[in-house]
Amino acid sequence: MSNEIDTINNENNEVEEKKTENEETRDRELVCSMCRRTESQVKRMFTLHPGLCICDDCMQKTMDTLSGGGSLSILGLAPKNNNDKDDSANFSANLGDLSNLSSMIFGDLPSVPMNQRLKKKKPALKTDEDNIEAKFDIKNLKPPHVIKAELDDYVVGQEHAKKVISVAVYNHYKRVFDKNEDGVELEKSNMLMIGPTGCGKTYMVKTLAKLLNVPLAIADATSLTEAGYIGDDVESVLSKLLVAADNDIERAEKGIVFIDEIDKLAKKHTTNSRDVSGESVQQGLLKLLEGAEVEVPVGAMSKNAMVPMTTMDTTNILFICGGAFPELDKIIKQRLNKTSACGFLGELSDKYDDEKNIAGKVELQDLREFGMIPEFLGRLPVVFTLDGLKQDDMVRILTQPRNAILKQYKKLLSMDEVALEFEDGALSAIAEKALKRDTGARALRAIIEEIMLDIMYEIPKDDTIGKVVITEDYVARKGAPRIVLRSN
Ligand code: ADP
Repeated sequence: MSNEIDTINNENNEVEEKKTENEETRDRELVCSMCRRTESQVKRMFTLHPGLCICDDCMQKTMDTLSGGGSLSILGLAPKNNNDKDDSANFSANLGDLSNLSSMIFGDLPSVPMNQRLKKKKPALKTDEDNIEAKFDIKNLKPPHVIKAELDDYVVGQEHAKKVISVAVYNHYKRVFDKNEDGVELEKSNMLMIGPTGCGKTYMVKTLAKLLNVPLAIADATSLTEAGYIGDDVESVLSKLLVAADNDIERAEKGIVFIDEIDKLAKKHTTNSRDVSGESVQQGLLKLLEGAEVEVPVGAMSKNAMVPMTTMDTTNILFICGGAFPELDKIIKQRLNKTSACGFLGELSDKYDDEKNIAGKVELQDLREFGMIPEFLGRLPVVFTLDGLKQDDMVRILTQPRNAILKQYKKLLSMDEVALEFEDGALSAIAEKALKRDTGARALRAIIEEIMLDIMYEIPKDDTIGKVVITEDYVARKGAPRIVLRSN
């Protein structure tokens, strides 16, 4: 009996799967298996069998070749009327009659996988009522103080950075939705974030994209090279964005691209050879940052003959670049000391040597000196810095954010009906350990995992345990955690 139910369930599941697969196929554009152009780029597309489509040009060429310079009409297959919508169906039906012939000719062609097929464009919204349905528009755009308040739930400290990013993002999306009726053109507010590793640059952008419900692509500048060299072309960042938007080009064109490690693209002062992964990549990124129509491979990171291409407009894509810019401090100090030391009222030449927030005084000329080209910097008008994390920030990161690591462990243990507590001393000791590793808050997770491994292994063995308290000694590996047994 239960076997029968299982079989019925399995069958139902299969039907469900087929249904969703069909729905997905309906949403996607057809792609010619020969030339890889999409349905919207060709005049007509013929479906020979599900997954195998040929465009009219390729069909014509093939038939011409077969009939030795003749045309489709020789085989009695030519569509009669270009404007007749049913014609392509008749044509496919004709081919269906000659299924042996079509499978002989096109049988070996691979069908185009779903991840290389763009989503069909949605019809334009006509009325305001329709517009309310669209999730993301000017009406439900969050103002900066709301964006900042939501970021506060996740990102600890970095008050200045959160404020700048909230305002810049708000302005950016106002610009995206602006119909430019009064002739005042709003400029793009691409951003450059400067801050030490592990201080929350990527995390802030990820959180922001989640809050705004826009697709986000995170790319690493070190993997990018000038077109034609080994490595990823700059367009690969757009392919990633398209994937993040589930091949929906309209959504992708309003998304965010975060390019990490941007400082690695600095012009190399010492080399004489061609700098294919530094300055040239900065040059290559210029047109994307500015806003241009770019040819992008769909469902793949590199262009080749087997990958369909599409055109993406980067005008409304928000680019955020981030980097640690090591040694930038020295450049800023040098500049500040130079200006303060000259003149009649010259101050001491080492006045700024002990200044803490030196990165906050960054100016464009420092970044140019670092090796970023002026045209590149010109396209990133919003520049701001993030602070290195201190011990008390680390403690707050452990405990306060909505999905803080400790909250996660507490939840895991509560499923075994065991409470978990951390002594204040233990939290400080963990933060101190993390600071020593010099990788910012990234070290916290690794340290907590080391500490919690034995506890997560041992607790489920013993159901008399009601509470575990992590002590400072346990973190320092000088003692054991305190165990409290259940009262009943
Ligand atoms: P980077 O600045 O090098 O891009 P990340 O943003 O990737 O660093 O930070 C690594 C991890 O550290 C994040 O996934 C996040 O969990 C944590 N983290 C870093 N900074 C903060 C912060 N200010 N608030 C909360 N969590 C943070």
